[in-house]
Amino acid sequence: MQDGFGRKIDYLRISVTDRCNFRCQYCMSENMTFMPKSELLTLEEITLIAERFIGHGIRKIRLTGGEPLVRRDMSDVIQRLGRKVESGDLEELTLTTNGSLLREYADHLAQHHVARINVSMDTLDPDRFSEITRGARVEQVLDGISAAKEAGIQVKINMVALRDFNQADLLPMAEYCAEQGHDLTVIETMPLGDTGSDRKLEHISAEEFIAPLANNYEIKPIAHRSSGPAKYAAVDPLGLRLGMITPLSNNFCDGCNRLRLTTDGKIFMCLGHNAHVDLRGAVRNEGIEAVDRLLQKALKLKPLRHEFNAQLDGSAEKLERHMNVTGG
Ligand code: SAM
Ligand code: SF4
Repeated sequence: MQDGFGRKIDYLRISVTDRCNFRCQYCMSENMTFMPKSELLTLEEITLIAERFIGHGIRKIRLTGGEPLVRRDMSDVIQRLGRKVESGDLEELTLTTNGSLLREYADHLAQHHVARINVSMDTLDPDRFSEITRGARVEQVLDGISAAKEAGIQVKINMVALRDFNQADLLPMAEYCAEQGHDLTVIETMPLGDTGSDRKLEHISAEEFIAPLANNYEIKPIAHRSSGPAKYAAVDPLGLRLGMITPLSNNFCDGCNRLRLTTDGKIFMCLGHNAHVDLRGAVRNEGIEAVDRLLQKALKLKPLRHEFNAQLDGSAEKLERHMNVTGG
């Protein structure tokens, strides 16, 4: 698959639920409301749509949300899509999770060909963790990460960079990740949905955020690439691979290879635009073949780049959609 700008599209992110057991301050508002269950794609719909996408050239799928592991039939979703890896139709099935339910799910994930996962954790400090997630316990996440490691799953930690909040937590986080053998990726906040906080004030560029690490370690850019947009550096002599996702400070849209399927069956071609096509309605009315037609439409609609900087400074229309609906 190619979009209108000649970019190869082979990566699909599926948000399997908009619900979550955390309320991270940069992701959701305190009083978030969620979709009625009838709006969600069913297990059968997710499987059929994913198969159709694979037929069109999708090679990698990441399951996300909301918190994907709170979906009731999540073990079936994992099992069904894991079969696509087993058969060689899919190169990779991955997951982004807040880690809280990994103790329960780690073996099941490993058994069904999920070899790598991303776990979001913005600080190791129990009080600050509880503050940023509005009430969750970092100990539970750390235990979940250990369970994933014990099951043989490779873990990458995602840390959202928040000005005046967690910059001092980067050093202990880097040391923890190096010791445990996890990669660490710093992500700049994106202005998605109203969360009750000032997006402009919370923003800090990844470069500024990681700068204090240089007081203790040497940071050298390296050529390593993953299937996502992170650029990497080696932190020596710690032996840590540090990724940076810089949607605002250093645009990476030229290399975008992704489509996103939302909880309610819409294809979004870009996290930062409202353009989308409604697959669920078409599939429920016309059958699964509707995917082929709508996918072509979606590829033509994929914009060249997001407008997060303009949305942040108020010169472009704000995005109402929160991150948990489209999936991070
Ligand atoms: N619940 C899972 C988790 O937290 O990993 C998966 C969904 S979450 C929306 C996916 C990723 O998006 C997480 O790493 C989270 O930190 C990040 N995220 C959420 N809101 C964000 C925002 N406004 N800007 C940047 N990253 C955000
Ligand atoms: Fe939940 Fe993930 Fe959003 Fe946090 S970032 S509220 S864990 S969906």
